[in-house]
Amino acid sequence: MNNKNFDNHCDVCGALTRISVHKKICDFCKFVKALDKSTDKNNQNIIFADNINQFFKDKYAELNHGETFILSLPVSRFYKKPVPKKGQVNFFKSKNIMFLLEQHGFQMVSRKSRFSSQLSMVVRKV
Ligand SMILES: [Zn+2]
Repeated sequence: MNNKNFDNHCDVCGALTRISVHKKICDFCKFVKALDKSTDKNNQNIIFADNINQFFKDKYAELNHGETFILSLPVSRFYKKPVPKKGQVNFFKSKNIMFLLEQHGFQMVSRKSRFSSQLSMVVRKV
């Protein structure tokens, strides 16, 4: 048994989510988490991370103030949904990432493509 299956709060915004058969869906911020896959416990890649808040906490601990890292991940847009990666558990909207960055003390420095379903950005620890 894995406790995360019984946490019905959104990993991004904390709102109560709707649990469907194999995933939880946040109607508020549109973040979706798959519940039927085993995930990367090391939280190295955000789309496979068991705990996305821990992913940002780890990044924060790793970097000095002003240091940057590249965050690249598929995001769904209203006109386009990227094909899920094998084993992917976290499905983001672009605004989910912006929210998480802000919550964890990061800011976006630059972004490659504004409209691509692959979000690729340079992120700085504030
Ligand atoms: Zn949410």
